[in-house]
Amino acid sequence: DQTLAELDPEIAAVLENELTRQRDTLEMIASENFVPRAVLQAQGSVLTNKYAEGYPGKRYYGGCEYVDVAETLAIDRAKALFGAEHANVQPHSGATANAAVLHALIKPGDKILGLELAHGGHLTHGMKINFSGKLYEVAAYGVDPDTFLIDMDKVREQALATRPDVIIGGWSAYPRHLDFAAFRSIADEVGAKLWVDMAHFAGLVAAGLHPSPVPYSDVVSSTVHKTIGGPRSGFILSKAELARKIDSAVFPGQQGGPLMHVIAAKAVSFKVAATGAFRERQQRTIDGARIIAERLSAPDLAAAGVSVLTGGTDVHLVLVDLRRSQLDGQQAEDLLHSAGITVNRNAVPFDPRPPRVTSGLRIGTPALATRGFGDVEFAEVAEIIAAALTAGQGADIEALRARVAKLTGAFPLYPGLQQ
Ligand code: PLP
Repeated sequence: DQTLAELDPEIAAVLENELTRQRDTLEMIASENFVPRAVLQAQGSVLTNKYAEGYPGKRYYGGCEYVDVAETLAIDRAKALFGAEHANVQPHSGATANAAVLHALIKPGDKILGLELAHGGHLTHGMKINFSGKLYEVAAYGVDPDTFLIDMDKVREQALATRPDVIIGGWSAYPRHLDFAAFRSIADEVGAKLWVDMAHFAGLVAAGLHPSPVPYSDVVSSTVHKTIGGPRSGFILSKAELARKIDSAVFPGQQGGPLMHVIAAKAVSFKVAATGAFRERQQRTIDGARIIAERLSAPDLAAAGVSVLTGGTDVHLVLVDLRRSQLDGQQAEDLLHSAGITVNRNAVPFDPRPPRVTSGLRIGTPALATRGFGDVEFAEVAEIIAAALTAGQGADIEALRARVAKLTGAFPLYPGLQQ
């Protein structure tokens, strides 16, 4: 029985190099995080060997007595964490969770109304070449061109004009809270179901630091790997009366055998998310984003044509507006990358540049908060980013790299872990 290094040194090198990259850089992609070792352990376990089509106690395979325990724990913990009547923890990813939600709620040809992709929506909320745009008739709401906020009066007008069957709340890039009560009342007024995709902010909700969509929504979907900081995967919460429809839309509607190693890891993550330490980490996540938003809104940045959309943030990410900067989104992403900071370029609403270039950056704090960063470290990160964005191509990369190295050195990631 060979180790990975013996059997496949090329792949072993990938793991080793990736661990080093994660250790030596500042990870600020808003949708990423670092899972605890217990999650790595559950995911890299013998549970990956097990077929378990069906649900706990109702499987189509023998030998499910232990994986049933794992899935039941994951379900019970998800329900308790979010105060939900029903939970399905089988979706392999956020996108498959979303496909199952629409599958459960409506038929092909029915109408959905979600946030425009270019304004921060997700592919699965109706993008043209995604399944959601192909199977359903799509209408979209956007943000206000002056405030960059979602205007619920406009959403209502649009819902009345388009009469959707499902209204979607949720985003991949939006720095403020949504008004779930207003979404509910609009959905009721037009006779639509309300589905909230909390993939990004679920960890903040679990910690009680963000309004919960659960009491207002028919269905809530999420990923586990963003602010929650668990394994790459999804889950769905719903009212009890939709439980059967959701379950059958996931399996057999959408998937075959569930990934039991990942489901066990989800159970671990939901256990972690119920702790005081998790809440404290989510608070540092939000505080860090505020510190960065404030720094990037300062006059020296404004003079360099850099600003922050909506003037700040309520969540774990900051959207940087580079429309008036000397750098486009691609150049800014590359510049920060060369300094050892990983972010992603992101279209700003009404972006004059094409999606591959963009005029914005999305900067997130969950991974660094997990690494242990607090206000002092986030203030230094904000200074490094500010220095890079104001200097542009003339930035002193070596000096910035040295500052990054000081931070990464002070907060070792996975100490002692070998891949
Ligand atoms: N929903 C939202 C709002 C997202 O931001 C994402 C991921 O970016 C997803 C769903 C999809 O998740 P996954 O990448 O796991 O399919």
